Amino acid sequence: MVEVFAVASGKGGTGKTTSAVALGMALAADHAVTIVDADTGMANLLFHTGLADAETTLHDLLIADRDAAVADAVYERYGMRVVPCGTSLEGLRAADPTQLREVVATLSADADVIILDSPATLESQSAVLPIVLADRTLIVLQPTVPALSDGLKVQAYARTYGTDGAGVIFNRVTKTESIDRITEQTERYFDGPLLGTVPEHPAVRGAREAGKPLLAHAPQSPPAAAFRSIADQITVHDHDADRVADRFRNAVIPEPP
Ligand code: ADP
Ligand code: MG
Repeated sequence: MVEVFAVASGKGGTGKTTSAVALGMALAADHAVTIVDADTGMANLLFHTGLADAETTLHDLLIADRDAAVADAVYERYGMRVVPCGTSLEGLRAADPTQLREVVATLSADADVIILDSPATLESQSAVLPIVLADRTLIVLQPTVPALSDGLKVQAYARTYGTDGAGVIFNRVTKTESIDRITEQTERYFDGPLLGTVPEHPAVRGAREAGKPLLAHAPQSPPAAAFRSIADQITVHDHDADRVADRFRNAVIPEPP
């Protein structure tokens, strides 16, 4: 039984990786969670989970006719299974993005929830594949009109591949008093609810510097509480794991919009 979420945004630096790790850890209280750094060109999940020295990563799994087994790039951390991606240019060049289908299909055998930390843009095949493969997107945005418009492009693209919206997360929120209008527009135009609002807070940077997930580094901080409350609102759907694996293996290789 597995459901796959793509954490996406339409823009870099909105907090996708921070959110993917925080929600993964919160959901891991009740589910078998696997989190994958599918942002293969700008990988940074490894730095959020103490895996900067990981020997085998997703890059090794994306090589056609690879030697590495999927299990070699799976690390048990903070109650989750983490599949980090390397940061070298050679690793990126050697990677065949379409191999992600097979990797996710294999991972789906042992997971209730797979979280794909997804690229910011929709500019390449590797960037759009996570959204195509996922059952639902979680869209992380700053509450501004330009950010909303970027997020809506991701949603429109996802819809064309049958990927639903699980909701929107506002992150790095500073002036809560001025987001009423944005909130109303978000609820009107996005699929799924506005799941919650995460404040801009120094604990997030502190966690990143410590190489730990926010929920491990500063569990009592306001952003950690916000992420836990967001995770509480996500009801995981039970999809048959074999059917899901087949769907991944046979997924259409997408064209960027
Ligand atoms: P993305 O994966 O979307 O590029 P990250 O999760 O890596 O974004 O976050 C980008 C930067 O913003 C990081 O330095 C992170 O520490 C910081 N950041 C993210 N969310 C917050 C927040 N709520 N408060 C403060 N800093 C944040
Ligand atoms: Mg990221």
